[in-house]
Formats: sequence, structure tokens, C-alpha cells
Amino acid sequence: MNYKKQDDSRVRAKKHLGQHFLKDLNIAQRIVDGLSSHGNYDQVLEIGPGMGVLTQFLLPKTAFTTHVIEIDTESVTYLQKHYPDLAPRIIAGDFLKFNPDEHFSGTFAIIGNFPYNISSQIFFRALEIRDRIPEIVCMLQKEVAQRIASPPGNKDYGILSVFLQAFYDIDYLVSVPPGAFDPPPKVQSGVIRLRRNSVTALECNEKLFFRVVKTAFNQRRKTLRNALKPVGEMPDHPLLNKRAEQLSVKDFVELTLLAQTLPAVN
Ligand code: SAH
Repeated sequence: MNYKKQDDSRVRAKKHLGQHFLKDLNIAQRIVDGLSSHGNYDQVLEIGPGMGVLTQFLLPKTAFTTHVIEIDTESVTYLQKHYPDLAPRIIAGDFLKFNPDEHFSGTFAIIGNFPYNISSQIFFRALEIRDRIPEIVCMLQKEVAQRIASPPGNKDYGILSVFLQAFYDIDYLVSVPPGAFDPPPKVQSGVIRLRRNSVTALECNEKLFFRVVKTAFNQRRKTLRNALKPVGEMPDHPLLNKRAEQLSVKDFVELTLLAQTLPAVN
């Protein structure tokens, strides 16, 4: 009877919000322990706390204050009821529309079991405010996690890998099977940690860097000489004989500097 009552109060999983609730507490603890560079921040923002499986391990930490942002009103109500101390630090809203200045002064880390359908958008938003975000620990679709953490030369290496590796050092922490969730997702999951590196600004035009990387990966099987045609007719350079997935961040910076010499691009 009691059990049933408790069960009734659980949040019903909504597919369109990417809700797969983690039920393995050992994994939850491991994700929270993934936050490592506490010295660089004293605030943490959890994206999509749901019923608080990660939050419960964050709250006892004294090195930082925990805030959460949750789009689902049913989850917000659940959290307010079960974590009354957290209530003033629950932001009911969409992370993609979130303005850090309204809630934080200074830096804050991000943690979360991300809604997988918008994980790339979360990273693009995080990149925009990267100087506020010294660390990110998150669970996402394993394929995407591997891609982001993958070094050049690997078939998984892609646009997001280059963008994120330009500003973050990335570690792949642990894989998580579908059975650790309720309801289980169709895909495997993986946890990664991103720590802000010391690069304050790229040595090239950043907008053009993003364009060069995107254009290069658009036709990743072609040599860069051909793939980069939409950017312009590049002067001869040995890197142009390679393909996008073979280039490091540094190489892409070099190519961008080369593209900057083209009259059409400036
Ligand atoms: N952290 C919980 C829930 C993970 S499921 C757990 O591990 O069990 C992903 C969560 O992200 C859901 O609670 C969902 O409602 C929330 N979410 C989805 N889109 C969001 C957005 N744009 N902004 C904030 N939260 C979002």
C-alpha cells in the first residue's frame, strides 16, 4: 500500500523531453565524483535533474553550491517536494534559453544526465559561455560521448570534437548500459568529463575557424583541397592533401590562418 503510494508520486517519463531516469545509484555517485577541479568554481548547475538521482549526491558536497535547471514542471514539483532545501535554487526552464547572468556571478560547473535529443545543442550553448564553465561532467549517448572524446585520426572524430577540444581537455569516464535506466533508452550511454584548457582565444579568426571546420567535415571523405572549395581557392599547403578527420585543432587553426589570406573571405 505504502509502496504503491510512493510509486504513484514518481514522475511519468516523457519521451519528447528525453526522460530516461537513471536508477543505478553506483553510476549516479560515479558521475558526481567525476567533478574534479573544485578549486576553479564554487557553484554547480545540474541540467535536467528529473527526480534528483544525481542531485541527491551533489547536495552533501561542501565544495560547491548546487543549482538545477529543469524544463519539466512535473519534475520541478517533485524536486520542490522532495528536496525543500534546494527549492530556491531550482530554475524552472529551458537550459537552451538560460541566461547565466541572471543566476550566477562568476564561474560554475555543469553536470547532468543530458536529454540525449539536445546534447549537441547543449554543448554549442556551453561553448558560447565557455569562460564561465571550467568543467562539464555529463552522460549522453555513448556514440556522441566517444565522438567528442575521440582524438584526430579516428573515424568518430567530428565537428563537435574539434570545437570542444579547442577549449576543453576531455576524458571518457565510463560506459552505461540501457538497463541502468527506467525506461531503458534504445542506445548505450557514456559519461565524459571536459575541463577548460588554458586557451583564452584561438590564434585565428574564430568565426572563420568554425566555418572551416564545418565545411571540412561536410565532405569528410574528400581531401581538404576539395572539401574546402566553398570557403575559397586555398593557396597550396601540405595539410590540404589530408582529410578533415586527420587534422588536430592546431592544424585547423593553421588552415584558418591560410583561409584568412584569401581576399574573398575577409
Ligand atoms: N537527471 C535525471 C533525468 C535525466 S533525463 C536522471 O538521471 O534520472 C533528462 C532530463 O532533462 C529530464 O528530466 C528532462 O525533463 C530534462 N530536460 C529536457 N530538456 C531540457 C531542457 N531544454 N532544459 C532543462 N532540462 C531539460
